[in-house]
Amino acid sequence: MGVGQTRAAELAAKVERFVREVVVPYEQDPRRNTHGPLDTLVDELREKARAAGVLSPHILPDGGHLTQRETAMVLKKSGLSPLGPLACNTAAPDEGNMFLLGKVGSPAQKAQFLAPLVAGHARSAFLMTEPAADGGAGSDPSMMQTTAKLDGNHWVINGRKAFITGYAGAKVGIVMARTGTPEKMAATMFLVDLPNPAIKLERVLDTIDSSMPGGHSVLTLENLRLPPDAILGEVDEGFKYAQIRLSPARLSHCMRWHGAATRAQEIATAYVCKRQAFGKLLIDHEGVGFQLADNLIDLKQAELMIDWCADVLDSGSLGTAESSMAKVAVSDALFRVADRCVQVMGGTGVTQDSIVEQVFREIRAFRIYDGPTEVHKWSLAKKIKRDQLQGGSK
Ligand SMILES: Cc1cc2nc3c(=O)[nH]c(=O)nc-3n(C[C@H](O)[C@H](O)[C@H](O)COP(=O)(O)OP(=O)(O)OC[C@H]3O[C@@H](n4cnc5c(N)ncnc54)[C@H](O)[C@@H]3O)c2cc1C
Repeated sequence: MGVGQTRAAELAAKVERFVREVVVPYEQDPRRNTHGPLDTLVDELREKARAAGVLSPHILPDGGHLTQRETAMVLKKSGLSPLGPLACNTAAPDEGNMFLLGKVGSPAQKAQFLAPLVAGHARSAFLMTEPAADGGAGSDPSMMQTTAKLDGNHWVINGRKAFITGYAGAKVGIVMARTGTPEKMAATMFLVDLPNPAIKLERVLDTIDSSMPGGHSVLTLENLRLPPDAILGEVDEGFKYAQIRLSPARLSHCMRWHGAATRAQEIATAYVCKRQAFGKLLIDHEGVGFQLADNLIDLKQAELMIDWCADVLDSGSLGTAESSMAKVAVSDALFRVADRCVQVMGGTGVTQDSIVEQVFREIRAFRIYDGPTEVHKWSLAKKIKRDQLQGGSK
């Protein structure tokens, strides 16, 4: 293990202890709302994480970031409880937004928007997706309808957004809007202080998942007027920055949900090693034991896929194809794990007496966000074709 990985192993152990000893007892807290935990709960947990020295553990004291490989060690542990990532400030969308701001933000933007996020005093939202009913951006971001137009030296943004995680209660927004020309479609990212009177919260969607504070919102942006220094990076480069954000962000989902699925496996194991049916422990029935064995295999394969993709990103590559492969393999594997945990726990598996039921719901949603499985496979198929046609037959 190199110096970096020793540092990360120590951090990961500290995060694990914190999540198991301090966060897990909050799992039945009534402030776990259907639209995500309330901010009073988030603030209370973050105060404890701050005191334990595990707040924003992936950000180094000098403002730098752990390598992706190190991040994997730490984020898997923060994910051992669905409340762990928001307690430790390693949760989506803040973690991905912090990463993007760290890479692309100007010094002034980092001071205004990034610093409060890293300190755990603010939450953020990433506004890209639009309502399907409007024919807006979803799997295909080039369908974006929200526009940003110059008026003098200010930008005026109009449009609707959907599924915006964490918007309710967020203080920092990153808005993607269409710029460019009719001939050459482009998008630009803008930073905005929230709340803003030009952004109206239409409703918070009732979704299958419930781990993210603020839930997922539908919004209307009406004449949102922003100065030139609100632009994140350069005009028309929004899709490029989305790529910078996406690969590590989708990998970090894999890391956190790997932790959650690992915990579900622990809970299911405890259940089947205690509960009896037909004169013996459930684990001694081959139909049960094999399911937990399959889980062990899926968890290990998912872990190796995460580490492999992390190494690719750490080498400086954008890792577009690799993060697609990892996202599909890991989200599908973790979903199988969660499903088997529910199954071997019988009726208890579908109750909220343990987090197994929630982990199942959360990972179901994960197979959609940050690119549905089919979209990743489709883009990999395009790459296979491109490589074949460019490289010729072997
Ligand atoms: C819980 C959750 C949180 C989210 N948080 C955010 C957020 O914070 N910010 C944000 O901007 N967005 C967010 N999203 C939106 C998410 O990124 C989109 O849901 C996703 O990109 C899919 O877009 P869509 O829902 O419009 O599905 P559609 O574009 O309507 O696609 C529907 C289905 O069609 C299939 N499909 C699409 N294209 C292809 C293809 N090329 N080949 C084969 N099949 C295909 C897939 O199965 C896909 O699931 C979130 C979504 C969820 C569920």
